[in-house]
Amino acid sequence: MNKDYYKSLGVNKTASQDEIKAAFRKLAHEHHPDKGGNAEKFKEINEAYQVLGNAEKRQQYDQFGSGFQNGQAGGAGFNWQNYQGGNYDFGDLGDLFGGMGDMFGFSSSRGRNQRRSRGDDMEIAITIDFMEAVFGAEKEINFQRLENCSHCKGSGAEPGAKVETCKTCNGQGKVASVQRTILGNMRVESVCPHCQGEGKSYSEKCHNCQGRGVKQTTAKLKVKIPAGIDSGETIRLSGQGEAGVKGAPAGDLFLHIRVTPSKKFFRAGYDIHTKETINIKQAILGDKIEVDTVDGELKLKIPAGTQSQTVFRLKDKGVPKLNSRYRGDHLVEVTVKIPKDLSRKDEKLIEEIKL
Ligand SMILES: [Zn+2]
Ligand SMILES: [Zn+2]
Repeated sequence: MNKDYYKSLGVNKTASQDEIKAAFRKLAHEHHPDKGGNAEKFKEINEAYQVLGNAEKRQQYDQFGSGFQNGQAGGAGFNWQNYQGGNYDFGDLGDLFGGMGDMFGFSSSRGRNQRRSRGDDMEIAITIDFMEAVFGAEKEINFQRLENCSHCKGSGAEPGAKVETCKTCNGQGKVASVQRTILGNMRVESVCPHCQGEGKSYSEKCHNCQGRGVKQTTAKLKVKIPAGIDSGETIRLSGQGEAGVKGAPAGDLFLHIRVTPSKKFFRAGYDIHTKETINIKQAILGDKIEVDTVDGELKLKIPAGTQSQTVFRLKDKGVPKLNSRYRGDHLVEVTVKIPKDLSRKDEKLIEEIKL
């Protein structure tokens, strides 16, 4: 499925990065769900900006469309098709949605040179309970990732080894080669394959990591799941992916959230729906009934003359909205149960009622 991200942001294909950013800011303000905007529209805008706001992803999108794979560029084979709707990375627009913090990855944009040896991004799916999604939770996750080697502190050198200048690049950290192109010979610089850009080599390699500076390790991470998150949404943890080689920044960790459905509650966005049955006496004369909500049991007033399929709204008893003080509502649909097989006596009484 090809989405027109330019259309989503209302800009044309030749728009500058600044124009795209300005368009996103304006639309995000307009459609922010906490300000009464449409959540679907907001997601669409966010998704479009995720791609168009980043010059590199934008170029890929222009070339391959919205189903593009980020394989080569990101190194981790990140699949953009599985990465829609729930990501709250607003780049450097943190001021707009203040308070979301590091959890959603408000890292400043990375320099071009660092990008090359930066650690890979990782993806993990975790399953949480319905109530954990509603009220937030702290989860501990265990997973395998590359971390800086504890023995050499990431340097790749055996402690005590002599430091020498890398002979391959003469300490420059990069090597140049000449490539023939249709525009003539071009000088191309790349990171030195021997020292990974460090410009140094060591008389003895670290025995623990074979000189790589990084090692596969079981990571244990405490993750704060924000209240209001839903299935299909993604939490981005900046710098919690694979370690970068020789001091390069680590990649990011993307946590895909799955929520176990509840037996009692049906969730639609930030609203919760349940059904209750009342008898005809309650429907005609009115009553107070107990309703199970995420906050526990609450009393619901059934007014006299309630019709079947009436929906009552318990304001602010739904799911807390992400990064907001507001909550959705709890909606109770009431069904009136019509009795069958009445006794002769009851039938007579019903007959007597003037309807
Ligand atoms: Zn080591
Ligand atoms: Zn070198």
